[in-house]
Amino acid sequence: MLNIPPAPELPGAKHLHSGKVRDLYLMNDGRLLMVASDRISAYDHVLETTIPDKGAILTQMSLWWFDQLADLVPNHVLSTDVPDDVVGRAVLCEQLQMYPVECVARGYLTGSGLLDYQDTGAVCGIELPAGLVEASRLEAPIFTPATKAELGDHDENVSYDAVVEEVGSEVAQRLRELTLAVYGRAEGIARERGIILADTKFEFGARQDGTIVLADEVLTPDSSRFWPAADWQPGQVQASYDKQIVRNWLTSPESGWDKASDQPPPPLPDEVVERTRARYLEAYELLTGQTFKSS
Ligand code: ATP
Ligand code: MG
Repeated sequence: MLNIPPAPELPGAKHLHSGKVRDLYLMNDGRLLMVASDRISAYDHVLETTIPDKGAILTQMSLWWFDQLADLVPNHVLSTDVPDDVVGRAVLCEQLQMYPVECVARGYLTGSGLLDYQDTGAVCGIELPAGLVEASRLEAPIFTPATKAELGDHDENVSYDAVVEEVGSEVAQRLRELTLAVYGRAEGIARERGIILADTKFEFGARQDGTIVLADEVLTPDSSRFWPAADWQPGQVQASYDKQIVRNWLTSPESGWDKASDQPPPPLPDEVVERTRARYLEAYELLTGQTFKSS
Protein backbone atom coordinates (compact mmCIF):
# COMPACT_ATOMS: atom_id res chain seq x y z
CA MET A 1 0.00 0.00 0.00
CA LEU A 2 2.84 2.35 0.78
CA ASN A 3 4.57 3.53 -2.31
CA ILE A 4 7.75 5.14 -1.09
CA PRO A 5 10.23 6.18 -3.78
CA PRO A 6 13.88 5.13 -3.35
CA ALA A 7 15.87 7.55 -1.20
CA PRO A 8 18.35 9.69 -3.15
CA GLU A 9 22.04 8.99 -2.68
CA LEU A 10 23.87 11.64 -0.68
CA PRO A 11 27.63 12.11 -0.32
CA GLY A 12 29.13 10.69 2.87
CA ALA A 13 25.78 9.25 3.91
CA LYS A 14 24.48 5.73 4.15
CA HIS A 15 20.73 5.31 3.74
CA LEU A 16 19.20 3.60 6.78
CA HIS A 17 15.45 3.89 6.56
CA SER A 18 12.61 5.63 4.77
CA GLY A 19 9.27 6.42 6.39
CA LYS A 20 6.23 7.78 4.65
CA VAL A 21 7.71 11.22 4.53
CA ARG A 22 11.31 11.21 5.73
CA ASP A 23 14.55 9.53 4.75
CA LEU A 24 17.10 8.72 7.42
CA TYR A 25 20.85 8.39 6.78
CA LEU A 26 23.92 7.65 8.85
CA MET A 27 26.87 9.95 8.17
CA ASN A 28 30.44 8.66 8.15
CA ASP A 29 31.09 10.50 11.41
CA GLY A 30 28.22 8.75 13.23
CA ARG A 31 25.72 11.59 13.09
CA LEU A 32 22.23 10.95 11.76
CA LEU A 33 20.89 12.90 8.82
CA MET A 34 17.14 13.29 8.83
CA VAL A 35 15.76 14.46 5.50
CA ALA A 36 12.17 15.60 5.11
CA SER A 37 10.86 15.02 1.60
CA ASP A 38 7.96 16.80 -0.07
CA ARG A 39 5.90 13.61 0.12
CA ILE A 40 2.44 13.80 1.61
CA SER A 41 0.31 10.94 2.90
CA ALA A 42 -3.45 10.69 3.11
CA TYR A 43 -5.76 7.80 3.95
CA ASP A 44 -2.76 5.55 4.56
CA HIS A 45 -1.30 6.15 1.14
CA VAL A 46 1.81 8.05 0.19
CA LEU A 47 0.58 10.16 -2.71
CA GLU A 48 2.50 10.19 -5.93
CA THR A 49 2.17 13.97 -6.11
CA THR A 50 4.52 15.96 -3.88
CA ILE A 51 3.93 19.36 -2.28
CA PRO A 52 6.79 21.70 -3.23
CA ASP A 53 8.70 22.99 -0.17
CA LYS A 54 6.71 20.88 2.31
CA GLY A 55 9.89 19.17 3.55
CA ALA A 56 11.65 22.48 4.06
CA ILE A 57 8.66 24.16 5.70
CA LEU A 58 8.24 21.29 8.18
CA THR A 59 11.95 21.09 8.89
CA GLN A 60 12.10 24.82 9.62
CA MET A 61 9.01 24.58 11.78
CA SER A 62 10.46 21.74 13.81
CA LEU A 63 13.73 23.64 14.29
CA TRP A 64 11.82 26.71 15.44
CA TRP A 65 9.93 24.63 18.00
CA PHE A 66 13.09 22.98 19.29
CA ASP A 67 14.33 26.50 20.07
CA GLN A 68 11.14 27.42 21.90
CA LEU A 69 11.51 24.30 24.04
CA ALA A 70 15.23 24.34 24.66
CA ASP A 71 14.91 25.32 28.31
CA LEU A 72 12.53 22.43 29.01
CA VAL A 73 14.40 19.56 27.39
CA PRO A 74 17.59 19.00 25.38
CA ASN A 75 17.06 18.09 21.73
CA HIS A 76 18.93 15.97 19.22
CA VAL A 77 19.75 18.71 16.69
CA LEU A 78 23.47 19.15 16.02
CA SER A 79 23.65 21.14 12.82
CA THR A 80 21.83 22.30 9.72
CA ASP A 81 25.00 22.24 7.68
CA VAL A 82 23.85 19.39 5.43
CA PRO A 83 24.64 18.10 1.92
CA ASP A 84 23.76 20.60 -0.84
CA ASP A 85 20.92 18.54 -2.27
CA VAL A 86 18.95 18.65 0.97
CA VAL A 87 19.77 22.11 2.34
CA GLY A 88 16.82 23.56 4.24
CA ARG A 89 15.01 20.29 4.63
CA ALA A 90 17.43 18.21 6.62
CA VAL A 91 19.10 18.24 10.02
CA LEU A 92 22.09 16.45 11.42
CA CYS A 93 21.31 14.98 14.79
CA GLU A 94 22.75 12.91 17.59
CA GLN A 95 22.10 9.23 17.27
CA LEU A 96 20.15 8.23 20.36
CA GLN A 97 18.90 5.02 21.86
CA MET A 98 15.23 5.60 21.08
CA TYR A 99 12.54 4.66 23.60
CA PRO A 100 10.02 2.42 21.88
CA VAL A 101 7.13 4.66 22.88
CA GLU A 102 5.24 7.25 20.91
CA CYS A 103 4.74 9.93 23.55
CA VAL A 104 1.38 11.48 22.75
CA ALA A 105 -0.19 14.38 24.59
CA ARG A 106 -3.83 15.26 24.05
CA GLY A 107 -5.59 18.42 25.12
CA TYR A 108 -8.65 17.67 22.98
CA LEU A 109 -10.44 14.45 22.21
CA THR A 110 -10.35 13.15 18.64
CA GLY A 111 -9.02 10.35 16.46
CA SER A 112 -8.04 7.13 18.22
CA GLY A 113 -8.47 8.86 21.60
CA LEU A 114 -12.12 9.54 20.87
CA LEU A 115 -12.66 5.98 19.61
CA ASP A 116 -11.17 4.51 22.78
CA TYR A 117 -13.26 6.84 24.92
CA GLN A 118 -16.44 5.88 23.09
CA ASP A 119 -15.59 2.19 23.63
CA THR A 120 -14.42 2.30 27.23
CA GLY A 121 -14.86 5.77 28.74
CA ALA A 122 -11.10 5.97 29.01
CA VAL A 123 -8.05 6.66 26.86
CA CYS A 124 -4.95 4.57 27.57
CA GLY A 125 -6.54 3.64 30.88
CA ILE A 126 -7.20 7.27 31.88
CA GLU A 127 -10.85 7.62 32.87
CA LEU A 128 -12.54 10.69 31.43
CA PRO A 129 -15.81 12.33 32.43
CA ALA A 130 -19.00 11.28 30.64
CA GLY A 131 -20.49 13.37 27.86
CA LEU A 132 -17.36 14.26 25.91
CA VAL A 133 -17.73 14.52 22.16
CA GLU A 134 -15.56 14.87 19.07
CA ALA A 135 -13.09 17.75 19.62
CA SER A 136 -14.05 18.30 23.28
CA ARG A 137 -11.42 20.13 25.25
CA LEU A 138 -10.12 18.02 28.12
CA GLU A 139 -10.02 19.50 31.60
CA ALA A 140 -6.30 18.85 31.65
CA PRO A 141 -4.04 17.45 28.95
CA ILE A 142 -3.34 13.73 29.20
CA PHE A 143 -0.40 11.48 28.33
CA THR A 144 -1.63 8.77 25.97
CA PRO A 145 1.33 6.66 24.90
CA ALA A 146 1.28 4.39 21.89
CA THR A 147 3.54 1.72 20.56
CA LYS A 148 5.06 2.24 17.19
CA ALA A 149 3.60 0.07 14.46
CA GLU A 150 5.40 -1.36 11.48
CA LEU A 151 5.51 0.90 8.45
CA GLY A 152 1.99 1.30 7.11
CA ASP A 153 0.25 0.05 10.23
CA HIS A 154 -1.47 2.17 12.84
CA ASP A 155 0.12 2.83 16.21
CA GLU A 156 -1.57 1.17 19.13
CA ASN A 157 -2.59 3.08 22.25
CA VAL A 158 -1.21 1.50 25.42
CA SER A 159 -1.59 2.10 29.12
CA TYR A 160 0.94 3.94 31.24
CA ASP A 161 1.70 0.63 32.94
CA ALA A 162 2.72 -0.84 29.60
CA VAL A 163 5.24 1.99 29.25
CA VAL A 164 6.58 1.28 32.75
CA GLU A 165 7.02 -2.33 31.74
CA GLU A 166 8.89 -1.29 28.62
CA VAL A 167 11.24 1.37 30.01
CA GLY A 168 11.02 1.17 33.81
CA SER A 169 9.12 3.44 36.17
CA GLU A 170 11.69 6.19 36.43
CA VAL A 171 11.98 6.74 32.70
CA ALA A 172 8.23 6.32 32.19
CA GLN A 173 7.59 9.05 34.73
CA ARG A 174 10.08 11.35 33.10
CA LEU A 175 8.63 10.71 29.62
CA ARG A 176 5.17 11.56 30.86
CA GLU A 177 6.37 14.71 32.63
CA LEU A 178 8.35 15.91 29.63
CA THR A 179 5.57 15.14 27.18
CA LEU A 180 3.03 17.14 29.17
CA ALA A 181 5.45 19.99 29.87
CA VAL A 182 6.37 20.35 26.21
CA TYR A 183 2.76 20.05 25.11
CA GLY A 184 1.75 22.72 27.63
CA ARG A 185 4.38 25.13 26.40
CA ALA A 186 3.56 24.52 22.75
CA GLU A 187 -0.19 24.66 23.22
CA GLY A 188 0.16 28.06 24.86
CA ILE A 189 2.35 29.44 22.10
CA ALA A 190 0.01 28.13 19.40
CA ARG A 191 -3.06 29.50 21.16
CA GLU A 192 -1.58 33.02 21.25
CA ARG A 193 -1.35 32.74 17.48
CA GLY A 194 -4.90 31.54 16.92
CA ILE A 195 -4.11 27.86 16.53
CA ILE A 196 -5.29 25.00 18.71
CA LEU A 197 -2.74 22.26 19.23
CA ALA A 198 -5.24 19.45 19.75
CA ASP A 199 -2.69 16.69 20.22
CA THR A 200 0.85 15.83 19.30
CA LYS A 201 3.37 13.02 19.31
CA PHE A 202 6.94 13.19 20.57
CA GLU A 203 9.75 10.68 20.43
CA PHE A 204 12.51 10.66 23.00
CA GLY A 205 15.82 8.87 23.14
CA ALA A 206 18.70 8.52 25.56
CA ARG A 207 22.31 9.55 25.32
CA GLN A 208 24.89 7.07 26.50
CA ASP A 209 24.98 8.84 29.88
CA GLY A 210 21.21 8.32 30.20
CA THR A 211 20.13 11.91 29.51
CA ILE A 212 16.68 11.95 27.95
CA VAL A 213 16.63 13.94 24.72
CA LEU A 214 13.75 15.11 22.51
CA ALA A 215 14.23 13.61 19.05
CA ASP A 216 12.55 13.10 15.69
CA GLU A 217 10.51 16.02 14.34
CA VAL A 218 8.39 18.07 16.71
CA LEU A 219 5.13 19.94 16.47
CA THR A 220 4.73 19.80 12.71
CA PRO A 221 1.40 19.12 11.04
CA ASP A 222 2.68 15.60 10.32
CA SER A 223 3.06 14.83 14.04
CA SER A 224 0.29 17.01 15.44
CA ARG A 225 -3.26 18.15 14.93
CA PHE A 226 -3.50 21.89 14.46
CA TRP A 227 -6.93 23.49 14.24
CA PRO A 228 -7.82 27.09 13.49
CA ALA A 229 -9.02 28.29 16.92
CA ALA A 230 -11.66 30.58 15.45
CA ASP A 231 -13.48 27.62 13.85
CA TRP A 232 -13.36 25.25 16.83
CA GLN A 233 -16.71 23.62 17.41
CA PRO A 234 -16.95 20.56 19.66
CA GLY A 235 -19.30 17.90 18.37
CA GLN A 236 -17.98 17.82 14.85
CA VAL A 237 -14.80 16.79 13.10
CA GLN A 238 -12.52 19.83 12.83
CA ALA A 239 -10.95 20.67 9.50
CA SER A 240 -7.29 19.70 9.68
CA TYR A 241 -5.01 22.61 9.01
CA ASP A 242 -2.95 21.01 6.30
CA LYS A 243 -4.49 17.95 4.69
CA GLN A 244 -8.14 18.90 4.50
CA ILE A 245 -7.85 20.21 0.97
CA VAL A 246 -6.24 16.98 -0.20
CA ARG A 247 -8.69 14.78 1.68
CA ASN A 248 -11.68 16.70 0.38
CA TRP A 249 -10.48 16.44 -3.18
CA LEU A 250 -9.62 12.73 -2.93
CA THR A 251 -13.06 11.91 -1.59
CA SER A 252 -14.90 14.16 -4.06
CA PRO A 253 -16.46 12.67 -7.22
CA GLU A 254 -13.99 14.76 -9.21
CA SER A 255 -11.04 12.59 -8.19
CA GLY A 256 -12.76 9.43 -9.40
CA TRP A 257 -11.08 7.56 -6.54
CA ASP A 258 -12.74 5.07 -4.24
CA LYS A 259 -11.15 5.25 -0.80
CA ALA A 260 -12.32 1.70 -0.05
CA SER A 261 -10.69 0.25 -3.14
CA ASP A 262 -7.14 -1.05 -3.16
CA GLN A 263 -6.24 1.39 -5.93
CA PRO A 264 -3.67 4.07 -5.16
CA PRO A 265 -5.06 7.62 -5.15
CA PRO A 266 -4.77 9.56 -8.43
CA PRO A 267 -2.31 12.43 -8.87
CA LEU A 268 -3.45 15.74 -7.39
CA PRO A 269 -4.43 18.62 -9.67
CA ASP A 270 -2.04 21.60 -9.60
CA GLU A 271 -4.64 23.76 -7.94
CA VAL A 272 -4.96 21.33 -4.99
CA VAL A 273 -1.18 21.20 -4.67
CA GLU A 274 -0.94 25.00 -4.67
CA ARG A 275 -3.66 25.45 -2.07
CA THR A 276 -2.11 22.76 0.15
CA ARG A 277 1.32 24.36 -0.12
CA ALA A 278 -0.25 27.68 0.85
CA ARG A 279 -1.72 26.03 3.98
CA TYR A 280 1.67 24.77 5.11
CA LEU A 281 3.15 28.22 4.53
CA GLU A 282 0.32 29.83 6.42
CA ALA A 283 0.76 27.49 9.39
CA TYR A 284 4.51 28.16 9.40
CA GLU A 285 4.12 31.90 9.21
CA LEU A 286 1.30 32.09 11.76
CA LEU A 287 3.15 29.97 14.29
CA THR A 288 6.66 31.29 13.93
CA GLY A 289 5.83 34.86 12.93
CA GLN A 290 8.50 34.48 10.26
CA THR A 291 8.32 34.54 6.50
CA PHE A 292 9.37 31.26 4.96
CA LYS A 293 12.40 31.53 2.72
CA SER A 294 12.99 28.68 0.35
CA SER A 295 16.67 27.62 0.09
P1 ATP B 1 6.19 7.06 9.61
O1 ATP B 1 6.29 7.57 8.24
O2 ATP B 1 4.93 6.34 9.88
O3 ATP B 1 6.52 8.14 10.65
P2 ATP B 1 8.61 5.88 10.48
O4 ATP B 1 8.42 6.39 11.87
O5 ATP B 1 9.17 4.53 10.26
O6 ATP B 1 7.30 5.94 9.66
P3 ATP B 1 10.21 8.17 10.06
O7 ATP B 1 9.41 8.88 11.09
O8 ATP B 1 10.56 8.87 8.82
O9 ATP B 1 9.51 6.86 9.64
O10 ATP B 1 11.55 7.59 10.66
C1 ATP B 1 12.38 8.29 11.47
C2 ATP B 1 12.98 7.27 12.41
O11 ATP B 1 14.09 7.86 13.06
C3 ATP B 1 12.02 6.83 13.48
O12 ATP B 1 12.17 5.46 13.66
C4 ATP B 1 12.52 7.59 14.72
O13 ATP B 1 12.24 6.89 15.90
C5 ATP B 1 14.01 7.62 14.45
N1 ATP B 1 14.73 8.71 15.10
C6 ATP B 1 14.37 10.00 15.21
N2 ATP B 1 15.32 10.73 15.86
C7 ATP B 1 16.31 9.86 16.16
C8 ATP B 1 17.57 9.99 16.85
N3 ATP B 1 17.99 11.16 17.32
N4 ATP B 1 18.32 8.88 17.01
C9 ATP B 1 17.90 7.69 16.51
N5 ATP B 1 16.75 7.49 15.87
C10 ATP B 1 15.94 8.58 15.69
MG1 MG C 1 7.83 8.44 12.39
